[in-house]
Amino acid sequence: MSSLLVDDIGELVTNDVGGEGGPLGIRRDAALLVEEGRVAWIGPARDAPAADRRLDAGGAAVLPGFVDSHAHLVFAGDRATEFAARMAGQPYTGGGIRTTVGATRAATDDELRATVRRLRGEAMRQGTTTMEIKSGYGLTVADEARSLAIAAEVSEETTFLGAHVVPAEYADRPDDYVGLVCGPMLAAAAPHARWIDVFCERGAFDVDHARAILACGQAVGLGVRVHANQLGPGPGVQLGVELGAASVDHCTHLTDADVDALASTRVDGGHTTVATLLPGAEFSTRSPYPDARRLLDAGVTVALATDCNPGSSYTSSMPFCVALAVREMRMTPAEAVWAATAGGARALRRDDVGVLRPGARADLMVLDAPSHLHLAYRPGVPLIRQVLRNGVPQ
Ligand SMILES: [Zn+2]
Repeated sequence: MSSLLVDDIGELVTNDVGGEGGPLGIRRDAALLVEEGRVAWIGPARDAPAADRRLDAGGAAVLPGFVDSHAHLVFAGDRATEFAARMAGQPYTGGGIRTTVGATRAATDDELRATVRRLRGEAMRQGTTTMEIKSGYGLTVADEARSLAIAAEVSEETTFLGAHVVPAEYADRPDDYVGLVCGPMLAAAAPHARWIDVFCERGAFDVDHARAILACGQAVGLGVRVHANQLGPGPGVQLGVELGAASVDHCTHLTDADVDALASTRVDGGHTTVATLLPGAEFSTRSPYPDARRLLDAGVTVALATDCNPGSSYTSSMPFCVALAVREMRMTPAEAVWAATAGGARALRRDDVGVLRPGARADLMVLDAPSHLHLAYRPGVPLIRQVLRNGVPQ
């Protein structure tokens, strides 16, 4: 058994609130021992045990790896031209998803695999050690199944999003498409998926269709997530709460009743519905940001994720999302870092990632900076010096 000591950590963010150190569970002048891919010990550097190998953090900050709980990596082509048109004044409607569907269906497995691996690697270099990956650009039985099989090669957090948009060939008969999603498409997708998700929005799926699809997924053992309240007010958030969703994502347009519904799940021990905010989408569509303060002040658990996708948020950078959340959404740096690590883990109902304590996975990053504050303070700067996943340098 090989052990690794991460030593001379100036600031260790643990997110282990059982101890001292504020909401991030910060420890100073610390060391962390890794054995068999797990955290085996955390304590003062001066008390560090012997180990087979040593990684000198040089007084820098060490944090849990980012947990990006919302990404769409299985696609072909890009939509740079659409982005440029939007920046020149055209509104975002979600209709461009069909452009990517066409390109994805035409791509080979190896082309899709290459894109997934490129983006997963890109995210890893920016500190993301857990990354949820959705299907949703195939929208046929075979294309959704292969999208998820390819995603599952690089992540255990895979999500069936056959209900991303109604494909063009079903435009006049959405009921038939819902039947396809709940029937043969779900059957083909479920073996490769942990979650099911629906884009519940005007122009995508209404609340009755969304409820039916999510219930079918639950019936075969998939956990529920919802794309909700992104483009306008709607029923998605409350549908998610009703179904015990792990997360409702976007949450840009919320009523008081939506916020109350989310806050009420906090008292339900173990079944919290997290509000996952995706500021890359508002950035890339030049839209108003979600009101993070309102959610936090109401006691809602908030996560941050990239929504990495070729249309509305083509970034894989969690540090960028942290910086946006602090500058544009009035989250404190500590709140944003927590939301991007422990919050993401909550959104995936995981207690072994997003936290550094004995027994947790040794997923962590060493910054080129003395404090987590620098992630927001130095936006756009490559601050991630070293990433360990399962204790293995990446
Ligand atoms: Zn999304």
